[in-house]
Amino acid sequence: MVSVKAAEAAADVCLKGEGEGLYEKIRKRDITRNDAMLLAENPRLLFRIANELRKETCGDVVTYVVNRNINFTNICVGSCKFCAFRRRASEGYLLSIQEILDKVEEAVRRGAVEICIQGGLHPDFHVENYCEILERIKENFDVHIHAFSPMEVYHAAINSKLCVEDVLMELKAAGLDSMPGTAAEILVDEVRHEICPKKLRTEEWIKIIKTAHRLGIPTTATMMFGHIETVEHRIEHLFLIREIQEETKGFTEFIPLPFMPKNNELGRMVGGRAPSFFECAVVHALARVVLHGLCDNIQASWVKLTPEGAKKMLNFGANDLGGTLMEENISKAAGATSGEYMSPEALECLIREAGRIPRKRNTLYELL
Ligand code: SF4
Repeated sequence: MVSVKAAEAAADVCLKGEGEGLYEKIRKRDITRNDAMLLAENPRLLFRIANELRKETCGDVVTYVVNRNINFTNICVGSCKFCAFRRRASEGYLLSIQEILDKVEEAVRRGAVEICIQGGLHPDFHVENYCEILERIKENFDVHIHAFSPMEVYHAAINSKLCVEDVLMELKAAGLDSMPGTAAEILVDEVRHEICPKKLRTEEWIKIIKTAHRLGIPTTATMMFGHIETVEHRIEHLFLIREIQEETKGFTEFIPLPFMPKNNELGRMVGGRAPSFFECAVVHALARVVLHGLCDNIQASWVKLTPEGAKKMLNFGANDLGGTLMEENISKAAGATSGEYMSPEALECLIREAGRIPRKRNTLYELL
């Protein structure tokens, strides 16, 4: 295994000689699963190619968005083993519409252009409840709403006895602008069966995402890695995202999410082990390489990686640092210690320290 310093040095070296043929193949979007595996086993070459592709695609610009996260409830009927956030109805909270509006008002006043809303699977929530949140925000504020994971859409469909397409159409009509591609975890059912047996299956996640894209609702794509999955599972997940993107072009970005092992059953199952810096670097670099030419934006999550860790990922294929957030409850519950807010100034400072050029963007990656 290469050290952190060696990994950073490798990512910085210009690509010549070794691997040039593979690099050209990737540039032509001809990468195969075997190529990805070969690169995962040759991290120095992987890092060099990922850094080169990032330079070619995004230059030195690193983007971020001024946004606010709102976790409107932690009451959840789910049973994901990696979750430290959910509570039973008797112990949890559910924000009122007014409390949500107050948070949006504060965010907009502080310059937020995106409101990100996600929560637990509240047993009494039907499509009308999700729509009410959207409608009330849109009635009062001109702001992009990035909300509700595929699992929440699935939950709304079951509770409301509707198909997912009808739910998505209602959400869009109520003001949904885009969706987080969370609840993806690892898109391989044998892994999902172990870590989140009650969550929607891979096929259902794909169906909701593709339907959203078809209806004009762009989404992000995520992968939670560093628990019980293998390198093959990660590559399978990345190629699945790639195949969806080839078909729909509806993903705005890909966000690798390192597993947070505190206060949850999965963390205990893996002995409290979180993915190392090296593993994180490999996953970010693989994402850049596998998605090259299809999804230009690879985000490093400062909440999960720490701000310093996210800054370092800019050498391994990442070109975006995500949002200011203002509030974050899900990762914090599972042991994240990076805080809940990074000001635009702090994010810009981090980007400049990495020798890059900071630029504010909106959810759809238009520079502001
Ligand atoms: S991850 Fe989401 S769906 Fe799963 S238990 Fe936690 S809050 Fe519920």
